[in-house]
This record gives sequence, structure tokens and C-alpha cells, in this order.
Amino acid sequence: MMYKRYECANCDFYEIAKYDLHKEKCPACGHNYHVFEEDIDEDKYSWLFNTIKNHFYFENFVIRSNSFLFIGNMISDFSKIREIFENIGYYPFIRKKEGKIYLHLFKAKKPGKSRVIIPIALLVATILSVFYAGYSWAVPLKEMGFIDNVWVTSSIFMMGLIFILGSHELAHKITAMKNKVDASWPYFIPMPLFIIGTMGALITIKSPIPDKKAAIKIGLSGPLIGFIASVIVISIGIAISPVVPATEYMRAVETFNATHPGGITIGFGQTLIYRILLDLFLNLPEGYTLVTHPLVVAGIVGVFVTALNLLPMGQLDGGHVARSILGEKYHMLVSKTTALSLIGIGFLGSFLRYPIWPGWILWGFIGYLISSRGHPGAMDEVTELTGEDKILAVIGIIIFILCFTPTPLYVVP
Ligand SMILES: [Zn+2]
Ligand SMILES: [Zn+2]
Repeated sequence: MMYKRYECANCDFYEIAKYDLHKEKCPACGHNYHVFEEDIDEDKYSWLFNTIKNHFYFENFVIRSNSFLFIGNMISDFSKIREIFENIGYYPFIRKKEGKIYLHLFKAKKPGKSRVIIPIALLVATILSVFYAGYSWAVPLKEMGFIDNVWVTSSIFMMGLIFILGSHELAHKITAMKNKVDASWPYFIPMPLFIIGTMGALITIKSPIPDKKAAIKIGLSGPLIGFIASVIVISIGIAISPVVPATEYMRAVETFNATHPGGITIGFGQTLIYRILLDLFLNLPEGYTLVTHPLVVAGIVGVFVTALNLLPMGQLDGGHVARSILGEKYHMLVSKTTALSLIGIGFLGSFLRYPIWPGWILWGFIGYLISSRGHPGAMDEVTELTGEDKILAVIGIIIFILCFTPTPLYVVP
């Protein structure tokens, strides 16, 4: 049987279609196609046609370099189609285009066994490096006489931060399992000698997300639970922070600085949520000041991590939500715009006399790279979202606003 072969002049992408695709350009890179006629032995694909025939009516069949594509309409529910193809080792993805359903079949990679030894080793290393970071926060407080025991204070800092990062990642893991998505155990990232001892934690998703609803739930569960954990940690932190007369505090700080020349003081930019918690839980008598306990710092870091993950870029948590709500094209646009805005915010700091975090520039570049890789999308992007899913997305935006600050940290002059 004669098929049409579309071959890219630039990359190695090709499509071999039963009927004309009316295409001139390669969807992978945008270069022009060369079009030929090619004789295809259809018997070679009878296994595929036999599997699909009672579940999907197709007008056109396309063999692509990395997948098969059927264009037509569904006869069975997508869940049925998914089941029969997963059984023979393919992941089906459906998209709607010009009133027709495009059913893509990708060969499923066998997900490797989730090994727990590396996640556990990373967790132990992160516990140690976060403990050490807590120790560096605790020592000056001890020398100034505001805390009694450095080891206890460092442990509290470590437990607070690991609790926040751990609950964020476990929320992803549990939601993924509920939606039958294969996800790794959390990988904590130790950062020895860094002021917070870690670069956060992440899980990797190893099988496609079934639908847009599941993508929103999996993406948002981490920041939502991590946010709640951060609020708890900050609240306890405020409660256990010593309250001392302001004059005594100033004197202690001056003495400390005089005996430790060359030291730097780190400040944290205020987020809305921190402001709200201070207003709720802090009742300072006139002339008194709060000596921030390192546990508060752990909570502030949790708030920052929440904001970073909610950025609508690539496959970050916020990226999953953006992809479900906005679709492929606008997700890419919003991703790249967010990344460029971060770079802009970072550079703005050099012009304004305001301590904007220069780290945004690096984050913007990283964000642009991950945005360019796009997002594979859920398998079923045809089923529409419900009002409940959209409310979840709005909650995500509200949490982001509560947690974002252009100045997560700065060196106090
Ligand atoms: Zn190409
Ligand atoms: Zn996350």
C-alpha cells in the first residue's frame, strides 16, 4: 500500500501517513519537509490495527519516528484504551485538534525499580548538613546569651526544615500513588556549608500522568502541604523565640560584632504570610524585641521553597498546574515569560537601591532551560477540568502570592 513519507530536511524526524497530512513543516523543529511516496507492508501493523479496531475509529494512520498516531474518534472510554495499550507496553496520549482526536502511542519505558538506598543516603547527608547550618545559626545566639544549648537549637532547626521538605515531597509521592503514577522516593539535596544546608528536595515522576485533574493534584499537593508545614514551623518558632528588651538586644549584638569582626548578618525579605503570622502571634511589650529563633528561619526557608516550586515553569509543581489549565502553547509562553521576568527582577536589583536577590538571575536562566524542554502533558488532555480543579489552581496562586518575595535573603549592611 502506498503511503506518504514526510522527512525533515533538518532533524531526523519523519512521519509516514496513510493519507495526506497536508503538512509542509516538521513539527519537531519547524524546518521544511521532503515528501515522498513509500510502499508500506500493512500486515506488519496488523497487531496494532487489531488491538485498536473496537476502541478507536481512525481516518488516518501515521508512523512517526518515535510513536504511532491515529487520527479519528474514540469508540471506547479513554480509560479502556489506556488499559489495553498499557497491557501491550504503550502509553496512549490523546489530544483534540480541529474536532478530531489525535491518539499518540509511545513505547513505555520499563520504569526501573525505585531504589531506596540513594534517597536514604541523601536524606542522612542532608540531615547532617542542615544540622550544621542550624549550628552556625545557633552559635552566635548562644554567645549573646539568648539560647541555652546549641545542640538542642541546631536539632530543632534541622527537624523543622526536614519536616517541611519531607511533607512537601511525601504529599507528591502519596498523590502520585493514588493516581497510579510511578514516582521516585524523595531525593534530598545536601548543601554542606550553605547557610541553610540544603537545596531542597525533589521526586521524579517516571510514568505519564493520566489526566489534567491528576496533574493539578500531583503538582499542587506538595506546595500546599509544604506551605501548611511552614506555617506550623514559623508559628512554633515565633512562640519559642526569646523576647528581650530592645536595649539589651542592641548591646548584645554590638558586643558580638565587636568581638567577631568580618562577620556577616543575613536578613530575610518579608513575605505576606510571615507578616500575617507575626501579627497573629507576636505581642511585643513596649521596648522589647524578638530574637528570631533558627526554627523561624527553617519556616521562612520552607515558605521560599514553596514559592520557588509554584513558579509556573516547565515541569515544576506550578508548571504541572499551568500546563493543565493553559494547554501546551500557553504553558510554554507563560514558562518562558516567567523565566525572563525572574532574570529581569534579578537585574533590577542592581539598578534600584533595594536588596533584590541576585540569585533570581541564575534561577531565571535555569527556568528558561527547563521551560524550553516543555512538558509532556497528561495522557488525556481532552477531558475538561471541573470547577473544583480550577479552585485548586486559584489556591495555588494565593499561596504563591503569600510566599513570594523578591528578596528571600540579603546581607544586612
Ligand atoms: Zn525537524
Ligand atoms: Zn514540589
